[in-house]
Amino acid sequence: MAGNRLIIRLLLLGCCVRENEGQLFRSNRSADTQVLLAIESSCDETAAAVIDRELHVLSNVVASQTDLHQRFGGIVPEVASRAHVRRILPIIDESLQEAGCELDDLCAIAVVTEPGLVGSLLVGLTAAKTLAMVMRIPLVPVNHVEAHLYACRMAAGRDIFPAVGLVVSGGHSNLYDCHSSLEFELLGSTIDDAAGEAFDKVAQTLNLGFPGGPAVEQAAHIGSSSAFKFPRTFLNEDRLEFSFSGLKTAVLYTVRGTPGSRKPVPQLTEQRIADIAASFQEAVIDVLVAKCQQAIKLRCRQVLCVGGGVAANTHLRQSFQRMADESGIELIIAPPEYCTDNAAMAAIAWELLEQGRTASLDIDVTPGLVRQRTR
Ligand code: ADP
Ligand code: MG
Repeated sequence: MAGNRLIIRLLLLGCCVRENEGQLFRSNRSADTQVLLAIESSCDETAAAVIDRELHVLSNVVASQTDLHQRFGGIVPEVASRAHVRRILPIIDESLQEAGCELDDLCAIAVVTEPGLVGSLLVGLTAAKTLAMVMRIPLVPVNHVEAHLYACRMAAGRDIFPAVGLVVSGGHSNLYDCHSSLEFELLGSTIDDAAGEAFDKVAQTLNLGFPGGPAVEQAAHIGSSSAFKFPRTFLNEDRLEFSFSGLKTAVLYTVRGTPGSRKPVPQLTEQRIADIAASFQEAVIDVLVAKCQQAIKLRCRQVLCVGGGVAANTHLRQSFQRMADESGIELIIAPPEYCTDNAAMAAIAWELLEQGRTASLDIDVTPGLVRQRTR
């Protein structure tokens, strides 16, 4: 198996470090090698990528765990970390092979250390530390949410900062003032559910399966976004925070009826599901667009970048583009393949490396911002 080959290589190289002071493993590597390996395992995707200094992505391998979590209707942390353990080495090996690289070619190891599920993060960090130690190359810790924004920088192919940045994913709905590619000032986040989390829960309510985002988007295609008037929390307030819990509950009551009410609930036909999905989607997007507009005005920025899994939503992308055109600002949304979790976006490590922001081998994970998702 590819993973076993990597383990054997790691062990052999580790022996060389101890017995030959690293001479053997270093023999092929030129001093100016310019590729790094990035590892991402913060939630339910095991991912590795090889990226060169010009931000060319030489490989980008992602193993999704959707099939493992589907029957639970959400991500189960223990299931996620065990799957990472099984997959991390084959995925690293595959990404190196796809990039046509050997371990010897790497000049740094980037790894997502925050935020995320503690057990999941630890798997990636352990693999990264081992490689960095064996190869005697720098270890670069990466913040997953900031990497989501950096996916926009990569897509643009040039410097895009300063900018307002929005990350909308399963775990986060964060609004930033991005002063530079390494300086992200948090302006606001969600006080309850994240946008992606709301998509996932609404999909569950509508029996659309997991992950909910793509399923809700699909269902919404034949629905009317004005069929239901769902709440848009904080829409007309100055605060740059989000709340999607009330919206989720409104959908639940629409489907199952308001508790205590004797009013009969209409049958959940395909059309009703589509109408609810479209109306829900519209409510989420309305709030996201409005809050970004507010942040842009407040910080006098000309550029808006949007990343994270929910940014893969076609209707969201169109609504943001319309707002950008009307407001005369530049919009950069990560391409769909860089919206959901991947390791290529950890290319932000090149910038960190340049600033000397590497870590020693005793670095720990910082699960941080991730809250326990509620039902
Ligand atoms: P996390 O980093 O929190 O795991 P990701 O960035 O991987 O999140 O994004 C996953 C989230 O994005 C899920 O909640 C999923 O439902 C949502 N999502 C994915 N595609 C879409 C879509 N087309 N429309 C809306 N939400 C989506
Ligand atoms: Mg993510």
